Amino acid sequence: MRSSNALYGGVEAGGTKFVCAVGRGPDDIRSEIRFSTTTPEETLARVIAFFREQMNKWPLAAVGVGSFGPVDPDPNSPTFGYITTTPKPGWRQVDFAGALARALDLPVGFDTDVNAAGLGEHRWGAAQGLDAFIYLTVGTGIGGGGMVGGRLMHGLMHPEMGHIRLPHDWEADPFPGVCPFHGDCLEGMASGPALEKRWGRRAETLPPDHPAWELEAEYLALALVNFICTLSPQRIIMGGGVMSQPHLLPRIRGRVLSLLNGYLQVPAILEQMDDYIVAPALGDRAGVLGALALAMQAHERGSG
Ligand code: ADP
Ligand code: ZN
Repeated sequence: MRSSNALYGGVEAGGTKFVCAVGRGPDDIRSEIRFSTTTPEETLARVIAFFREQMNKWPLAAVGVGSFGPVDPDPNSPTFGYITTTPKPGWRQVDFAGALARALDLPVGFDTDVNAAGLGEHRWGAAQGLDAFIYLTVGTGIGGGGMVGGRLMHGLMHPEMGHIRLPHDWEADPFPGVCPFHGDCLEGMASGPALEKRWGRRAETLPPDHPAWELEAEYLALALVNFICTLSPQRIIMGGGVMSQPHLLPRIRGRVLSLLNGYLQVPAILEQMDDYIVAPALGDRAGVLGALALAMQAHERGSG
């Protein structure tokens, strides 16, 4: 089959950095480049230059983009492939997928960074064989995606799991939160910048026995319980800079069990919690590999 020999391009488009790669999976990456996110003009020009150079070496079948957002992931919308209402300066209403498609003359798959990472985990990592799972990132922001019914979650737009509202005990935690829209939503209370603002030091410098982490686990567990009860995921994958604290996952698992309080009598939760809430199997490669997976999906759809 021709498509099994094809090479793909992937773009992990983050608010801080971009990673572009060419290959066809975790064991076959031909080339990769990373650079800081600057203006849309300059950043997209670097992406296009990288793929043009690659296309001189080998043909690409499609490109996939997993982007920070909010984005428009609806292929039937006139603004498909745009970064839309982002607070990031200069990046509002940027036609990301269109710019790549025109410059490279290739099909472009486009989705949120977390849906892309989720698709990567589904193809090669911790979500293989599942038809309902969540990929949540806890970093500069908090975002969630994944699949329900074997399809990446879309709908009206795409999930914005970082902006759910949680119970906030103002006496125990008087911090008002950092979300410019909501103050004390999940992202406002539990993102990396929220930790830094609340405790006056960067999250990576907070020692494991600091009270920050118990509170962090509490907010993340409250969020997960809400997601478990609404989406019924078969697994939850948690990535992002803040989750690289190794003590955090075990704390979250414990608090999720306590908060559910025995209500969900399923072995995945009662007996296999260590396999239920997990780190990405692809580690920090989930994003860029997921973008490759989006390219494969775009190619498969394009060639029927
Ligand atoms: P981004 O969200 O920009 O893609 P990250 O996922 O690395 O990047 O998130 C960056 C945030 O994560 C920052 O707020 C940083 O303080 C925090 N962070 C990064 N590494 C760690 C760590 N080892 N422990 C705790 N927090 C971390
Ligand atoms: Zn918010």
